[in-house]
Amino acid sequence: MSGDFADRLLAWFERHGRHDLPWQQPRSAYRVWLSEVMLQQTQVATVRPYFERFVARFPDFASLAQAPADELMRYWAGLGYYARARNLHAAAQAVMSRHGGEFPTEFEAALALPGIGRSTAGAILAQAHGQRQAILDANVKRVLARWAGIAGWPGEAAVAARLWHCAEQLLPTQRLADYSQALMDLGATLCTAGQPRCGDCPLADDCVARREGRVAELPGAKPRPARPRPQREAWLILAEDEQGRWLLEQRPGAGIWGGLWCPPLIDREQDWAGALRERHGLQLSGAQPDAPIAHAFSHYDLRLYPLRGPAQLLATGLREAGTSRWYSPAALRAGELGLPAPVARYVERLAPAADLPGTAAVARVRRPRRPAAKAKPESVP
Ligand code: SF4
Repeated sequence: MSGDFADRLLAWFERHGRHDLPWQQPRSAYRVWLSEVMLQQTQVATVRPYFERFVARFPDFASLAQAPADELMRYWAGLGYYARARNLHAAAQAVMSRHGGEFPTEFEAALALPGIGRSTAGAILAQAHGQRQAILDANVKRVLARWAGIAGWPGEAAVAARLWHCAEQLLPTQRLADYSQALMDLGATLCTAGQPRCGDCPLADDCVARREGRVAELPGAKPRPARPRPQREAWLILAEDEQGRWLLEQRPGAGIWGGLWCPPLIDREQDWAGALRERHGLQLSGAQPDAPIAHAFSHYDLRLYPLRGPAQLLATGLREAGTSRWYSPAALRAGELGLPAPVARYVERLAPAADLPGTAAVARVRRPRRPAAKAKPESVP
């Protein structure tokens, strides 16, 4: 399998791969290392002129290690991710001090240099020394995830482990420099993220993603962190008159529960007593808080804070204007008005059917109890 995979890839590379990259001619460990670091998070087209200017000024590890940091940063300016330049400087100095000016040929020693991860170390050793090392940069991850049908986000350790295993299994025994370049080129030019050209691909015959129609979904996207749902809070004012009736107002057509009837809802940020005076010409004496009521809408969670107490009419009088009225718990319990679901459940709790002569049977028919915990989020109007 690996031989066949590599043979097809290398045959494609002969005709369609990139053979004119500046770090390929001449190919040295220094130039490959420099290009690999520059290519981390940066496209080839952007890197090319920077690479050429850089090697003209710093042609080897010695010149780079001795360069003042400020000058190095001037040559890097515009490439971004400046930690790479600082690591480059430190790595050049480490190569000079620890390895006699030669890039190490042992994988572990290469990996120990600043700014070099597993894939970069593998790429440098494969490209510069023809070693049998696997690589797994972003392009290669995409190719292998699709070809082998490896689901999940490659940033997850388990997914990355499967991709590394796949990359290692597929390694040929010869032409490692060309093979690693071919794999990167295929990902960069043909098996692209947006518009892969499967019809031209040498791996198409046994590509799992292509066969199963999963090209667009592989590799898996990074899971989005669950965002906390927005919360809203409101007072639910149960103002009771001397006959034991509650004040209800009809909700405006726009907004939540438009057209339904509800005890006054007042934003929890507001001065509820002032709002009750303003809106209804009422005040509550000895308001008692009740346990909060939670309700889920499709896009946010609502928490109602009931306040109950006897209402006193102020001199201004009750402002009904057709949209607020007094209702007995029995009438509400009997389902005479359309109440929002959490308010209906609250009313049921406050005024159980058994306590309301003559209404129990009606209530049972009209308002079957449902388990509150299973309630689905209500759509926002
Ligand atoms: S067949 Fe398509 S999805 Fe599969 S490796 Fe080739 S270009 Fe990528």
